[in-house]
Amino acid sequence: MKRRSLFKVAPILMAAGGLPTLARAQATSSQNEWDVVVVGAGFAGLCAALEAAEKGAKVVLIEKMNRPDGTTIYSSGWIACVGSKFQKDHPDSKEAFFNDMMKLSGYRSDPECIKVYAEEAGDGVDWLASHGTPFYLWENLPAPELSRCLISPGDGITGGSQLVRCVLKALEKKGVPIHYNTKAIELITDDLLNVKGVVCLTKDKRVEYLAKGGVILTTGGYAANQAMVTQFIGPWASRLVLRGSPWITGENITMTQKVMAKLVNLDQFYAGPMTPTGKANPSPLMHAGYGIQVNSQGKRFVEETWLQVPKAKAIAERTPDNISYMLIGQDADKNSNILTNTLTRFRRLGYEVPSGNTIEEVAKKAGVPVNNLLATVKEFNAAVKKGKCKELVPPYSYDEPHALETGPYYMIPAAGGIASTFGGPKINGKAEVVNTENRTIPGLYAAGAAAGGVWYQDDIGGNQLGGCMVFGRVAGRNAALRAKEQN
Ligand SMILES: Cc1cc2nc3c(=O)[nH]c(=O)nc-3n(C[C@H](O)[C@H](O)[C@H](O)COP(=O)(O)OP(=O)(O)OC[C@H]3O[C@@H](n4cnc5c(N)ncnc54)[C@H](O)[C@@H]3O)c2cc1C
Repeated sequence: MKRRSLFKVAPILMAAGGLPTLARAQATSSQNEWDVVVVGAGFAGLCAALEAAEKGAKVVLIEKMNRPDGTTIYSSGWIACVGSKFQKDHPDSKEAFFNDMMKLSGYRSDPECIKVYAEEAGDGVDWLASHGTPFYLWENLPAPELSRCLISPGDGITGGSQLVRCVLKALEKKGVPIHYNTKAIELITDDLLNVKGVVCLTKDKRVEYLAKGGVILTTGGYAANQAMVTQFIGPWASRLVLRGSPWITGENITMTQKVMAKLVNLDQFYAGPMTPTGKANPSPLMHAGYGIQVNSQGKRFVEETWLQVPKAKAIAERTPDNISYMLIGQDADKNSNILTNTLTRFRRLGYEVPSGNTIEEVAKKAGVPVNNLLATVKEFNAAVKKGKCKELVPPYSYDEPHALETGPYYMIPAAGGIASTFGGPKINGKAEVVNTENRTIPGLYAAGAAAGGVWYQDDIGGNQLGGCMVFGRVAGRNAALRAKEQN
């Protein structure tokens, strides 16, 4: 079609269905057939593809970026489980693990999914180890983490990147193709809304990937989609700093609406403190038992002993600018040199922390009203000396509080950050997506942050990557089985 005649046709095409129709008319298209199509090469997608291939399926993994570029590569690489070979000297029970995960979610996680998680996570870690993933166990952490958290140490890379690397190697060995720069845009269904495949766009082509056994959605959540964060979580949440990947933009929601998937827990997300530019994580220092947390007016507004999730949410909710500071003195180094280590890490990341030999000096450097900060410190130090910290508003609940009397002082900036979202199309214990009547949508599976119903409110450190592994494998296994049944 000539350019002039195309523009003549354009208004008619737009009236019939909008610009996508026009784009479709211009692009060449093709079709290919697989047993299982996995969409999104994060940890969930990688595990799903490997498991499906090991179960004999012809699998393809589709990724919209030019490498695995989701939140997994930003993560620390913790995986929570019980019963792995690394935990032989730490007796624990799947039942206790299940109970702790349910409790942490306020009993809002789907017990069917959490039961599957408790049952399968240990085996999943052993499976990853059998593919060459190195792990070590964090032993005897405070409850509910106990000796349940394994970490895959990255050698100069994040733990999450290390996990990705290991599974990529296993996929390569197995000969599973990964189609990069290929973005899934729409599910292909029959008239009964059974899922038959997925439409993808490459730079210059529209490709239909047909899937005999099923499509597994592992596109992550919507933490980087400001419109969705504002709509589902609330306008205040749009101030949260993004801690993970900027490409995680909610295709788990947009693609599943067509098949009337049941979307659940959309207001739920995982949070943590971050510097306002998103460069460095101040969290360990904020839980070291030293210092006070103040807003940009120099006043305390949150309990310092709160864990990182409620604390990060409180910073964004209770301050107009999503900014707070951890005011801390040099004596914090008595706790494992934590101050020096944090300052070194921040410098390496290009972040200079405001400091001063006196409270006045550090307040000026940070741009916080000097008199307010002096008054806050005076009140705090007096309460420490009288043993009345728990009567402060808000209470200061450390059992052994330390007065702020040892300079130099530092004000470490901490904004509330969003790490990942928990909402999405509801899955059952087989990782099948269900519709608004709780019936499974044949041919559609989801896992990892793309799936809804598994996590709510908070989790044990390592539950999310653990969920990617467990439900990725469950989805891969069931889609491979379904492909066989369709033959
Ligand atoms: C700083 C930080 C630390 C963390 N540490 C931990 C930890 O130690 N332990 C833990 O359990 N959790 C941790 N988390 C949370 C955890 O990282 C995530 O929950 C998890 O990585 C999600 O993995 P995923 O595979 O579901 O999605 P992702 O890793 O986000 O991958 C999704 C992939 O899908 C691709 N994609 C998206 N849309 C499309 C499309 N339309 N077509 C094709 N491809 C698409 C994306 O490009 C991406 O590669 C952490 C998070 C952060 C931010």
